[in-house]
Amino acid sequence: MRKPIIAGNWKMNKDINETETLINTLLPLVADATAEVVFCPTYLGLQKAVEMTKNSNVGIGAQNMHFEKNGAFTGEISGEMLVAIGVKYVIIGHSERRQYFNETDEAVNKKTIKALSLGLIPIVCCGETLEERETGQAEAKVVAQMEAGLKNIDDVSKVVVAYEPIWAIGTGKTASKDQADEACGWVRTIIGKMYGEDAANNVRIQYGGSVNPGNVKELMAMKNIDGALVGGVSIKASFSEIVKF
Ligand code: 13P
Repeated sequence: MRKPIIAGNWKMNKDINETETLINTLLPLVADATAEVVFCPTYLGLQKAVEMTKNSNVGIGAQNMHFEKNGAFTGEISGEMLVAIGVKYVIIGHSERRQYFNETDEAVNKKTIKALSLGLIPIVCCGETLEERETGQAEAKVVAQMEAGLKNIDDVSKVVVAYEPIWAIGTGKTASKDQADEACGWVRTIIGKMYGEDAANNVRIQYGGSVNPGNVKELMAMKNIDGALVGGVSIKASFSEIVKF
């Protein structure tokens, strides 16, 4: 049985005061969630978020990390630093990081291996562009991202994958439940080929892209979908409806 996991990716939203306010709003509302719940505020909000959620059902995740421990990497934060403040999850290879910060599959792989070695749960993102979908290349893209991003991993069952078609992110255009399930199936199949069927059956795969209280139920009912990575709605009180799907 895979426990559903629903994570809120706050992206570059909410300063430290707003972070505190939002967590105060959300915590009581998500206390009876059906899913494992994760909030991913900005780096600046992480420590406060960990303190505020200490005795709750919510875990805290970062939106990125560097794979080196420390050194001359201006502007970066290491996994060790995240662990030191009690962060439990880390989003890796979000399409916005791939697009705007040139994050490669190779870096995704290094970060994933490093996160696992530190006991962090990586939420590894994949997904195709609209052009790739329209030209029949969606499966090849997702499979290639997974083959490169998830290679040489000791225990893949600890990894959470987020399938996020880029055309569905922040557009209000959700993949249909069948499209989303099919793509999450591509992910499970390639993980099965890489690490065996048992491992693949234990990996939790989220769908992300315009998830809202109105569509979460039908998405979560699909056999390959084990959760959601939520952007826009994750910084609203209605996120609590999503985690109770
Ligand atoms: P939206 O839910 O705003 O479409 O964002 C999805 C996303 O990118 C989560 O990581």
